[in-house]
Amino acid sequence: MVLGLATLVALATLFVVQRRNTRKLRQLLVRLAESERGYRTLADNASDLVIRMRDDGTRLYVSPSARDMLGSDPDQMLLQSWEQVHPDDLARMKAAIARLASDGGATTLLHRLRHSQGHYLWIEALVRRVADPDGSVEIVFAGRDVSTRIRAEQALESARSRLRAVTDNIPALIAHIDSQGRYSFLNAHGHRLFGDANERAVGKTVREVRGEAIYSDIKDHMAAALRGERVTFEGQSTIGGRTYAYQTSYVPDIGPDGQQNGFFSFTFDITQLKDAESRLEQMARFDALTGLANRRYFDERLSAAIARCRRQEAPLSVLYLDIDKFKPINDAHGHEAGDQVLRQFAQRLKACVREGDLAARIGGDEFALLVEGVEGPADAESVAAKVIATMAQPVDLGGTSLTVTTSIGVAFSRRSLSADRLVVTADEALYAAKAAGRNTWRIAQID
Ligand code: GH3
Ligand code: MG
Repeated sequence: MVLGLATLVALATLFVVQRRNTRKLRQLLVRLAESERGYRTLADNASDLVIRMRDDGTRLYVSPSARDMLGSDPDQMLLQSWEQVHPDDLARMKAAIARLASDGGATTLLHRLRHSQGHYLWIEALVRRVADPDGSVEIVFAGRDVSTRIRAEQALESARSRLRAVTDNIPALIAHIDSQGRYSFLNAHGHRLFGDANERAVGKTVREVRGEAIYSDIKDHMAAALRGERVTFEGQSTIGGRTYAYQTSYVPDIGPDGQQNGFFSFTFDITQLKDAESRLEQMARFDALTGLANRRYFDERLSAAIARCRRQEAPLSVLYLDIDKFKPINDAHGHEAGDQVLRQFAQRLKACVREGDLAARIGGDEFALLVEGVEGPADAESVAAKVIATMAQPVDLGGTSLTVTTSIGVAFSRRSLSADRLVVTADEALYAAKAAGRNTWRIAQID
């Protein structure tokens, strides 16, 4: 009986425990169902595209947002796996999911999915591996349509590369310098010009990249541009052993909000222009045959010398020269020989005066000397005597030697009245020297 009673108590206890366990299990199941319902509600109502899948792409769940995002029926999508992925993104996507399946964790995937109408959308997805309690691997994918952002980024990038193509193919140095004086942009020409050492000029200051000497030449212009002024200047700089003449314009970079964001710098190599300019100047001022100053430059220098001598109350002398019997030289030996005589005459004439004085070919066989720093008429006459003596040496015409003489008219002035008076006086004196038998000089003092 005792045994029967004990068995009864044990059975009753077992029954109570069993019932409690069953109740607990039921409560657990209800909570689980509620939790799953909660997550499902979230996924069902999310605007993001939520997909649960196996690592081989087999889909377990596709959220209803697929309809809005891709125009596709979620139930149909359950039957698909990779079909909607852009072919160019497929291998990368599969590899990322395989990596997730083996290593776990989460990753962000940017890829294209095909809309039911045929075009592709850019989807940015957070993809995570979740482990099922039964040990199987499940991938949860939450994707968002970022097509607008990607298109804007692509448009910005293509605008940037177009700008690069334009600036890199202009034969000018184009740079942007920020308000701290640092390069924030430099075109290909700039990189080439500054050389390999400054390949990474962007981020460095102008001072670091260009060096102290150039920086001190341009720093005032930079300061003006940073104050909002537009500046243009010219200069010279030596890069890699070559000297360039350049012209630079600084254009302030003012943002739409009025904020000063630094300035743009446009530098053109004007070396050839400067060379052409100086060649033109040379042609305009110097005689092509002899290399001496021409009449125009002689007149310019005479006016400047008169002004200077007047200020300093210093005397001035002008000598006019004409080769004696030059026509017969041309006639006897030819025009080419005549030219040779003119060249040698010019060389000798130049050697007769000091560095600061000027020897000029006025035209034909006429020459002139502008002599400053003469004390009195005797000094001026000694220059004329020197010329006569120098010309006494025969001229060598390639085998034929020839004696070429010249007549000289000297004008001397203490008060340097006017260029015209000096020239007319020298010319009259020259005429007198010719009349006196040539190979000599005559002097006339004006005041
Ligand atoms: P005079 O002693 O009176 O000066 O006699 P001249 O024969 O020198 O006469 P003039 O000074 O009037 O003659 C100048 C000559 O110079 C005339 C011209 O044929 C020649 N001539 C002018 N320009 C050139 C030139 O560029 N080359 C050469 N070879 N001859 C020139
Ligand atoms: Mg003559």
